[in-house]
Amino acid sequence: MYEWIPVGEHTLYFDNPVKIGLFCAGDEAVLIDSGIDASVARKLLRSLEARGLRLTAICNTHSHADHTGGNAFLQARTGCRVFAPRDEAEIVRRPILEPVTVYGGNPPAALRHKMLLAQPSDALPLDAPDFPAALEPLALPGHSMDMTAYRTPDGVLFLGDCVSSRQTIEKYGIPFCYDIATFLASLDRLETLEADCFVPSHTEVLSSVDELRALVAVNRDGVTRVADAICDICRAPVTPDDLLAALFERFGLQMNFEQYAMVGSTVRSYLTWLQETGRIDAEFRDNRLFWRTLA
Ligand SMILES: [Zn+2]
Repeated sequence: MYEWIPVGEHTLYFDNPVKIGLFCAGDEAVLIDSGIDASVARKLLRSLEARGLRLTAICNTHSHADHTGGNAFLQARTGCRVFAPRDEAEIVRRPILEPVTVYGGNPPAALRHKMLLAQPSDALPLDAPDFPAALEPLALPGHSMDMTAYRTPDGVLFLGDCVSSRQTIEKYGIPFCYDIATFLASLDRLETLEADCFVPSHTEVLSSVDELRALVAVNRDGVTRVADAICDICRAPVTPDDLLAALFERFGLQMNFEQYAMVGSTVRSYLTWLQETGRIDAEFRDNRLFWRTLA
């Protein structure tokens, strides 16, 4: 499980199971994301040391805890710099903002576990001095506010979470997304990007543009399926809680605090997008919010 897998002349990845990238220049190592916690980070560091590599920087694709949870350990042990896209860097520095923003208030204890709350690390924005010049950041927002992919000089594009896996979309139905409009625009942009190899964080490596396009199409269809389900349920005016219950029923999901927060946040983002695009609207009656589909 803890083996570096080569995907380019100087580029490897490590599956833990979130994929972590490694770009090597001489004895200097740059990581793309850092895994979920200190135990993963400890193994990462040991394996870098075994290869005679010195960690100089971590470049985070976005702030989610399963991508940044190893930052603090690695930064404390090696003094490496941490870089993250500007809005994501705010959360990497103050990770409580992740459950706060997903929940929309002071998060209960059930949302303060390591899947949602990383240890803080001292992240710098990508335009800070000393950002590893070899890496090319490519903005692909949507899954999160400022999600960014990184392309290495040997033709490997680390995609972070800018696409979900086919399995996640088919089995789970409503993968986390912060902004549907920018997510769709990023899928369009993604199809124009060139690389020899594409590494999404949560699914298999894609070795051709055709494979990438097929996964992009699955992601686009997934958005349509969720949007159509919301519009169908809202044909009769419905409160947010009743909408969420109906969606959970339709997609076979099981409600708990984490799902309530993560899927609830995503559905609120869909509602904003559907309102902006004129498909649904909100109204208040008897001090209740109702969403309804426009004819
Ligand atoms: Zn994510």
